[in-house]
Amino acid sequence: MANGQMSESATQRLKNVTGLIGDAARDAERAAESIQLVAVSKTHDASSILPVIEAGHRIFGENRVQEAQGKWPDLKAGHPDIELHLIGPLQSNKAGDAVALFDCIQTIDREKIAKAVAREIGDQGRAVTCMVQVNTGKEEQKSGIDPEAAVDFVKKCRDEIGLPVEGLMCIPPLDEEAALHFALLQKLGAACGVKSLSMGMSADFEKAIAYGATHVRVGTAIFGPRNTG
Ligand SMILES: *Cc1c(COP(=O)(O)O)cnc(C)c1O
Repeated sequence: MANGQMSESATQRLKNVTGLIGDAARDAERAAESIQLVAVSKTHDASSILPVIEAGHRIFGENRVQEAQGKWPDLKAGHPDIELHLIGPLQSNKAGDAVALFDCIQTIDREKIAKAVAREIGDQGRAVTCMVQVNTGKEEQKSGIDPEAAVDFVKKCRDEIGLPVEGLMCIPPLDEEAALHFALLQKLGAACGVKSLSMGMSADFEKAIAYGATHVRVGTAIFGPRNTG
C-alpha cells in the first residue's frame, strides 16, 4: 500500500463497518451478534490482512482457492480460531484443497460439487459448514442454482448427499435493486429451513441486514480498493 499514510487504516475502517452493522441491526430490531462480518481479503496480501487479525477480527472471505492457499495457511497457523469462508466458485477438482483450508464453503451450486465436498469432508474429517449459492438474478455468467430449484437442491444435499447445508448465499445483479434479491433469498431460506443467509457487500450490507442477513461479505469498505490483475 504505497499511499497507506494518506488513507484511513483497514483497522479504522473495520471499526466503522462494525459500527454501521450495529446501527443497521438496531434499526432492524435484531441483535448485532446475529450478524457475522466476513472481511473479504481477496487480492490483498498477508501484510494488509495481519493488522485486521491483530485488531481481533477472525472471519475472512476469499474467492479463489489457489490465492487463499498462498497466504492463509501461515495466517491461520498463528491464529487457529480464524474462520475462512470460500465465497467464489469452486471446481470439483479443487474440492479437496478447499475442504482442507476453508471452514465454510458458501458456493455449493450443483450436485457434482456437493458430492465432491461431502466426500472430502468425510475423508479429511474436517468440520466445514456449507451454504448453497442461489443465482437470484438468473444471470447467465453467474454461478449459483436457479431460485426455483433451490429448495429441492438443499433437501437433496442434506438427505441424499449428506452435506450439511446451513445457509444460502447470493450476489445480486449489479444493475438491479439489491433489496428484491435479498427478499427472495430470505424467502427461500425460510422455505429451506436454513439458519444462515449470506448477502450484502460494501455497497449494500445495511440493506441486507434489514432482510435478515446473518453473514455480510465486505471487502472494499475494510481493505480499500482491490489490487486488480
Ligand atoms: C469481492 C466479493 C465481495 C466483497 O465485495 P465488496 O464490494 O468489495 O465489499 C463479496 N462477495 C463476493 C462473492 C465477492 O466476490
